[in-house]
Amino acid sequence: MEKTPVKPKIWTAALAGLLCLSGPAASLAQDSGPLVQKVTAATPQPKLIVMIAVDQFSADLFAEYRSHFTGGLARLASGVVFPSGYQAHGATETCPGHSTILTGNHPAHTGIVGNNFFDLSAAREDKRLYCAEDETVPGTSSKDYAPSAKHLLVPTLGDLMKDRDPKAQVVSVSGKDRSAIMMGGHKADELMWLAPTGLTSYRGSSLSPVAQQASAAIAAAIAAPEPGLTLPADCAAHDIAIPLDGRKGGIVGTGRFARDGADFRAFRASPQADGAVLAAAAALRQARKMGEGGSTDLLIVGLSATDYIGHGTGTEGAEMCLQMLALDRELGDFFARLDATGIDYVVALTADHGGHDLPERNRQNGWPDAQRLDPALDPEKIGKAVAEKLGLPEPLLYGDGGDYYLSRALTPAQRKTALDEILPRLRAHPQIEAVVTADQLAVHPISKRPADTWTLMDKLRASYNPARSGDFIIALKPRVTPIPEPGIGYVATHGSVWDYDRRVPMLFWRKGLAGFEQPNAVMTVDILPTLAALIGLPLDTKNIDGRCLDLLSGPEDSCRSGH
Ligand SMILES: [Zn+2]
Repeated sequence: MEKTPVKPKIWTAALAGLLCLSGPAASLAQDSGPLVQKVTAATPQPKLIVMIAVDQFSADLFAEYRSHFTGGLARLASGVVFPSGYQAHGATETCPGHSTILTGNHPAHTGIVGNNFFDLSAAREDKRLYCAEDETVPGTSSKDYAPSAKHLLVPTLGDLMKDRDPKAQVVSVSGKDRSAIMMGGHKADELMWLAPTGLTSYRGSSLSPVAQQASAAIAAAIAAPEPGLTLPADCAAHDIAIPLDGRKGGIVGTGRFARDGADFRAFRASPQADGAVLAAAAALRQARKMGEGGSTDLLIVGLSATDYIGHGTGTEGAEMCLQMLALDRELGDFFARLDATGIDYVVALTADHGGHDLPERNRQNGWPDAQRLDPALDPEKIGKAVAEKLGLPEPLLYGDGGDYYLSRALTPAQRKTALDEILPRLRAHPQIEAVVTADQLAVHPISKRPADTWTLMDKLRASYNPARSGDFIIALKPRVTPIPEPGIGYVATHGSVWDYDRRVPMLFWRKGLAGFEQPNAVMTVDILPTLAALIGLPLDTKNIDGRCLDLLSGPEDSCRSGH
């Protein structure tokens, strides 16, 4: 352990310096003294909405680190806090999760049923479509896809703001394309995400001059090697090497984010990546004067490092501890920059899904039955075995995540025979909780009950879309990690129907807004109506799954009529 405390670097600040951004003024540091005007129902609308999604930031991580936060996350934790926000649906993956945040709709209605889904009528051999892809673009494939918002079936907050007032500015910056796109929607003025070259956007579109500058600064940061962070005392208890199953010499738990120059994969799985996205967001806001005009503007920020770190090293090691403290610092710097502008802004922060730790460490930490997925549950293997036994044409079965699709080459009779063979086989497997068919889900209503009381069917229904979901959907038992063998950068994951993957914090902050805590279950689909109410944006509430959350403590209500 390092004896002398070393002041950790703030990446947002380092990059902001290169971009000639106005810095935070010390005198404008968060100050809740008597000069701050209390927000009431009569307070004018905020000038800027800042929506932040932290990928894989589970309610469990927020609870574990909450008392350690001193920067941006401490500020948000002093605001209006919903510690039990729910990504209520069953398919707790990144693309579906991000699609709920600014649309007010479950994936059943956003159409984003997974990170990938299958279209068995597609010309491509693998039949796999990426969630944020336009498969009609010549040359696109599931591996090298043309990014697009085409699959998102509903408007986002930004789309609705621009419909009302074309001068409203909407900018979306993220570590991942699917995050930037699913939150940014169809009409964003600028939309970009991290790439080995810095920042990139849709094929054929060019970055604005300020985005190009940010991209060049980020490219230079990627190119430079990093020596790694010093472990603070707060993280010492996490610093235990965990050997990985079946990987000789493979360990996680003691990483410090040291990396070679030009290693983009290591860069994006480090706190530096979130700093880069925040610096780019601050630069775009400044250049476009967002929050300074007549309309309310929307700045969308997707911070993806927590997810890459969770996948690569799990949630309870020194790596995640370093990331949580760094995220808090980076957000603190970003907010201080916004404070310095004097703009009245409101922040909402949530996550696209939760997450949990790798089985190897879970087994050491009081979860002896944590397991990795049986490799026999591979859809290709099952399809092959069943096709051979029944004499059916191959390939018989396509799948990824929980959704499984039967070949369209089957006659109705063959289809029935195949299902009669496959379903009991899967249901008898000790790692499988349930197998549900599309026919069952099609007649199951979307639950109106609080998300913490949802049945398995309720969860799966909320991410079931008849045009895109599989013919049947598999839910694994709790504590089964669907990674049969740990690989580099991929030892732990999310995606299950269980609350460790569904529960996320939902935090709202605005200067002068009195904080309170509401521990009852709310949903990420409630964020759109909540923010829309703050800016008097009318919604077609019958086409929204969420409800407006009243952010004003006491008898006043921030949910105006129609929300
Ligand atoms: Zn994610």
